[in-house]
Amino acid sequence: MSGTILIVDDQKGVRRLLEELFKREGWEVRGAGDGLEAIEKVEASIPDLILMDVKMPNMNGLEATHAIMARHPGIPIIMMTAYGEIEVVRQALEAGVKRCISKPFDIVTLRDMVHELMLEVAM
Ligand SMILES: [Mg+2]
Repeated sequence: MSGTILIVDDQKGVRRLLEELFKREGWEVRGAGDGLEAIEKVEASIPDLILMDVKMPNMNGLEATHAIMARHPGIPIIMMTAYGEIEVVRQALEAGVKRCISKPFDIVTLRDMVHELMLEVAM
């Protein structure tokens, strides 16, 4: 299985960690540091899946999700929320996000979530 994942997070360390993980899993990985950059990256080349942080400068993850979903409703998005942010989770799901995972997340859970969604996309 192959595919491209766009990792959107303002924390370089998080991007690097996830990039290493998913490259090792065989995916092609791209990164963006905020919502605006995420939109640019999606328009330049549509990814198969997006991992989206919520709190970011310039444009947050919810706003970016709305913008991306309006143009590309088929792209699965996993939102990385902070623990206990139930209202954000509700808004994210309403915006069309497929899954939410709270930070700090278990890397195996996230890996399995990505794999499962990628299989859905492939079918
Ligand atoms: Mg953040």
